[in-house]
Amino acid sequence: MKLDGSNLLERKEIIRLINSRMYFLKFPKKLEQIYSHQYKTEAAREFRIRGLIILGLYLYLSVGIYKILPTEKVEAWFMLYSWVGVIIFTAWLLSFFPKISQTFELYTCIGSSLAIAITFAIIGIVDGGGNVLFHAAMMYAVVIIYGFVGMRFYTATLAAWSGGLLGVLITSHFSGQLEWTLLQRTYTFSSFLGMCLTYATDHQHRENYLQSCLIELTRSKMLDQAKQLETLSQQDALTGLANRRHLDEMIKSEWNRSMRYQTPLTIMMIDIDYFKNYNDSLGHLEGDHCLKKIADSIAKIAARSGDLAARYGGEEFILVFAMTDQKQAIKQAEILIHLIQDLAIPHPTSAVAEHVTASIGIASTIPKINQDVQDFIKSADTALYRAKDCGRNCYAVADLPINEHLNAVGIVKSLEG
Ligand code: GH3
Ligand code: MG
Ligand code: MG
Repeated sequence: MKLDGSNLLERKEIIRLINSRMYFLKFPKKLEQIYSHQYKTEAAREFRIRGLIILGLYLYLSVGIYKILPTEKVEAWFMLYSWVGVIIFTAWLLSFFPKISQTFELYTCIGSSLAIAITFAIIGIVDGGGNVLFHAAMMYAVVIIYGFVGMRFYTATLAAWSGGLLGVLITSHFSGQLEWTLLQRTYTFSSFLGMCLTYATDHQHRENYLQSCLIELTRSKMLDQAKQLETLSQQDALTGLANRRHLDEMIKSEWNRSMRYQTPLTIMMIDIDYFKNYNDSLGHLEGDHCLKKIADSIAKIAARSGDLAARYGGEEFILVFAMTDQKQAIKQAEILIHLIQDLAIPHPTSAVAEHVTASIGIASTIPKINQDVQDFIKSADTALYRAKDCGRNCYAVADLPINEHLNAVGIVKSLEG
């Protein structure tokens, strides 16, 4: 039986459990619930095969008993023993209903207990206590119940002993006779043997399960680390935005998607104005802080799930907006310029304002098959240069008419004049 380990417990708790050797076959409550749920589901599934085998063994044994049984006892024996067949068959049928798989141990425990009680009663009532074949049949039943039905230690023990007790009660009620010495050697002996067998199996299952939990913990830790590594490999260390490599991948896939569905795609190239001067006057460290703050504002603009904000290099950034046309893009650019203005980061050596400003080049298009994504990026870059030429702290839009060669003919709008 293969069960999937859980990552509920810490590694050291699992190792402590393995080292404790779990003599009482019980996990901590929460883990026991998870284990028990899985165990029952799996045991019920396995019983679809096991039940058939048990049914086969039962029929084989029945034929054997029938062949050597005196004719006058056949009817009484058959009346009782056929119920054992009915019980096995019913349990086998029940195992096909996944919805009741959580009651697997309940119905197999009741069934097993009844099967033992009937087998017991046959010895006392039909046979009078001494026929070794009936005793052998009961031993088979006990061993199968402990070792093959799939119940865990406590349930199997309860089933076998309660069945025996019930069998004694039925026999004495119908004034049957039991050969106690023989019973000790058969029923009692096979019951203890079965208990040892189930205990060992149950113990082994639980140890295997704990090992699977360890494997699961390692697996999920490795998955987390792989995820972290993936995120780190896509991130710019200083700003936390996407890095150039991730941008290149994303922009290509967004370009292809927009081409496939013929939806508008926009990119914005953002460059901080006179940033070299900023560094020169306030120092590189202050420059880094400034870059981080601007990056945070840029990230705010890329709020929708398909948007991407990336650091293109140095003090240049790119925003990618899927399903966004030129008109919507202009609105976003205006918001961004305002956001940067609101930061009010003092810039003592800027020629355009007293605070840090940025220029933006916007390019929007519905990609066509003869267009190239690199040319699209270039057009945003050209628009950015136009914004710079027009005095900075403004945006320019590349004009990209569909089916015409890419040429950044921008409109320029300064917010401050
Ligand atoms: P313009 O207005 O034309 O954009 O001028 P500019 O000075 O902003 O542009 P330029 O390309 O001349 O200078 C960019 C500066 O950005 C140069 C470099 O020191 C600075 N820079 C690039 N990467 C970083 C960084 O990671 N941290 C800091 N502090 N500065 C950086
Ligand atoms: Mg630059
Ligand atoms: Mg610059």
